[in-house]
Parts: sequence; structure tokens; C-alpha cells
Amino acid sequence: MKLTQTRLQEKEKAQEVYLSDALLSPSSAHGGLYAPQNLPTVSSEKFAELAKLNYDELALYIIKLFDFDIKDEIFKQAIKRYKNFDKPNEPVEFKKLDENLYINELYHGPTRAFKDMALQPFGEILSKLASEKKENYLIMCATSGDTGPATLKTFANCANIKVVCLYPALGTSEVQRLQMVCMQGENLKTIGINGNFDDAQRALKSLLASEKFKSELAKNELKLSAANSVNFGRILFQIIYHIYAYTRLLKDGLKHDESFDIIVPSGNFGNALGAYYAKKIGAKIDKIKIASNANKILTEFFTTGIYDISNKKLIKTISPAMDILISSNVERLLFDKFGAKRTKELMDELNNKKCYKLTQNELAELQKDFQAEFCTDDECEKYIAQWIKKGVAIDPHTATCLKMVDKKRTTVVTSTAHWVKFAPSMLKASNIKANNEKDALSNLAKKFGEKVPESIMLLFETPVLHPDVIDQDQIENKILEWIKK
Ligand SMILES: *Cc1c(COP(=O)(O)O)cnc(C)c1O
Repeated sequence: MKLTQTRLQEKEKAQEVYLSDALLSPSSAHGGLYAPQNLPTVSSEKFAELAKLNYDELALYIIKLFDFDIKDEIFKQAIKRYKNFDKPNEPVEFKKLDENLYINELYHGPTRAFKDMALQPFGEILSKLASEKKENYLIMCATSGDTGPATLKTFANCANIKVVCLYPALGTSEVQRLQMVCMQGENLKTIGINGNFDDAQRALKSLLASEKFKSELAKNELKLSAANSVNFGRILFQIIYHIYAYTRLLKDGLKHDESFDIIVPSGNFGNALGAYYAKKIGAKIDKIKIASNANKILTEFFTTGIYDISNKKLIKTISPAMDILISSNVERLLFDKFGAKRTKELMDELNNKKCYKLTQNELAELQKDFQAEFCTDDECEKYIAQWIKKGVAIDPHTATCLKMVDKKRTTVVTSTAHWVKFAPSMLKASNIKANNEKDALSNLAKKFGEKVPESIMLLFETPVLHPDVIDQDQIENKILEWIKK
């Protein structure tokens, strides 16, 4: 299978690309993204068999259905990265919390956020492809906190790859910042920016588009690529854990003709798109419920059909990974539902007027699969406190899901980060006092009857390797200086 472009002019013919090309150069010339034209499908009978597989086997089975141009051997190596997770044979931990209610914990990887689920195998594949082609890459990422550590970690010490990570100096949690500034690896560079996440993202986009920057890199035999979730290589691995959730429910007695709902804390919509693709492949998901924080653009979109950022400002919340207004992966959903020509029309409107509007029929089509709702910070803190009483520690991102739990329906809450990354909000919600971040973690862990992962405690004793915090106009020089070393 090849991938096709999500935007087409009237009469234009779609160009198709191999997955390997879409991985190495995710920004397409047509301005849109790459997406599958069709998805493979799995029958109900087959799902009964898949329920017997462990995660790795299921992952390989699903990936092979796509029949991409990358060798099975490379995919197998990529999936082996899950051996570094908490439980070597079970990278996600799927648990029953209550009658009808399950949680799919996706944060048991090395950097404690669900980003590891895709970035770990993705890093392996990208570096293999680069070395097969005898090419060297500079991978750039801009982060609001979780993508940064996960990208640095997956490429640490990879031959052929250098990574530059841009983060807003005051915009991440303390643990997230330490994960980035203490990350070891000769091939890694973390740079703090005086500004917010949007500024970091804007700097990234302008470098990705700069011919001057690319030609400077070329002099040092480097090609440029990016590791954000517009890269389809990440989406692929975000389908599998939703299908895995379905197979666990089957194992737990869900009948083959029964459906369930999935709730996803959403920002850039990559995780939720994975659930939509899982549904198309055959997992019996009824509603995909999109949870947002006070930046409720997706709630508005799925309830009114209007995507309007013209009158909005980004609000800083306790779930920073979801502080986003332009949710890039919605484009792949529009493409799948309404085709490339309509998608181009809508995306052009968003660019030109900062707003687009679906027809009533189009909205009804989306609402067959999606519902949406948002939670304020106060509401999230209330949910966190309630759940602490039940002995379950959930992070502020996952907490946005809880408003949408329908007790009468089998429901899977998708849990995207470990609470250790967000100690201040956890302290506030649980009424615990602490003198500093390290104390906070120990006190919280005691209360939850858990242990703080060793890799997190070690951060407080690790030397800072990347102290730089600079203004935006210095970024390019800083990167070039480092590359030439
Ligand atoms: C990235 C992230 C999200 C948002 O996921 P999208 O795929 O961008 O919608 C939610 N929660 C956490 C903890 C994250 O790191």
C-alpha cells in the first residue's frame, strides 16, 4: 500500500508515496498530509483469534495488513523497542476500574507519556531507513512537554541521526524540563526558547521551510526532517493500542456483536485519529469521545461543525499537551470522510479566514463516530481528587475524559501520561504539601501506594547538559554552530 495526499485541486490527480518516503520527508509539496486511501479490515471471527496474541504479535499482524514498502524485519526490530517498557511483553497496561469501565494506560514507556508508544518504534525505523540510504538526518521537534523527551530518547546515540528539540523555557512542567535538559547523547541538542509553545512551533516551521537553512545543513551532509504527529509513521503505531483494547475486552467477555466507546484526551488529534482508523479496521468501537481542556476548539467543531480560531487565544492549562488550537490531524479525518478536494477547500478557508464550516450532512457524518466535551482545570482537579479517593492516580490530561464516562456503556478511557510529570496539579488536587518537586513526588507516591519510577528520581541528581535558553532570532545560528562541531 502507498499513501496519498489529503489535498487536491479540482482536476488534479493524486500523487502516491511509499511509507518510507513519507517517513523521511513528512512535509509534502502540496501543503497537506499523507494518509491511506483505504484501510485494511479484519473480520469478527479473526478478532476472536487476535485476542489470543500478545501486544507485539498483534502489532506485527496489524502492520503487515497494510502491506507497506518497509521490510518486516525492520518492523520487527521496531516493535522490539517495547521491551524497554515497564513490562517487557505488555507495553500498555489495560485495567478494569469499575463495572463497564476500563483504562488503557499508554504511559509505561521510558519518558512516561503515550508519545513513547509511537516514537520508540518510529525512531528505530527512521534510523534504519536513513542508514540503508546512507543518509544523515537532522530531526527537529518543537514540544509543549511530552514530544520532546520522547523524541530525544528514541534517537539517543543513533548513528546517522542528530536531534534538535525546541521547548518553551517556562512552558513545561519541571519534570518534563529536566527530562530534556538532562538527556544524554552526543547526537542530541535541547534548546529553551524565550516564548511559548506557539513560538517554538513557528520557529520550527520556518526552519523546515528555509532553503538557506537546508543548504547549510547540506554542506554538513545532513537532510532535514521532523518528528511531530503529522508524520504518518507515528499514526501507524497509534492505531494498534486501540485495537489491543478491543482484544482485551473480548478476552474479558465482550460479545463479538457488542460495541464499546473510547474516550481520548486530545490535542493534535493523532491519538483520536488512531482510534478512528482502529474502528475502520474492525474494532467494534461505537463512539470515539474527544476530550479537551479549556482550549475547546474540538468540542465546538464536533458539536457545531464550525472550526473557528479567528476569535481565540491559547489558554494555559494544567494539561499543557492539549493546549492547541490548530489540530493538525483533523485534516486526515476530513480527507477520509469527504475526500481530498473538499479537504483542500476547507483547509484553504482555515488558512485564509481562520474559520471553516461543515454542511449539516457533513456534521451528521462526523457525529456517527465522534462526540466531544471539554473540562476546565477546576473540573479536572475535582476528578483527580475523586479518583485518588478510589485509590487511582490519574494525570490532568486523562482527567479531561471523566466527564464523558457513560456508566451504562462499556468504556475505555485512554490514559496518556503518568502523574509524576505533573506533580504541582496532583498536590493541589490531593491537598498534600511539599517543599520542592522531589519531595512532592515522594509524598504523592506514598499517598498513592506507588513508587516513583527510578528514571524520574534520578533526574534530580543528573547534571544539566543543555542549559541554553535563547531568543527566537538566535535559534538558527545556535543549531548551525552545534552541527559544525
Ligand atoms: C500529546 C498528548 C496528548 C494529545 O494527543 P494528540 O494525539 O496530540 O491529540 C494528550 N495527553 C498527553 C499527556 C500528551 O502528551
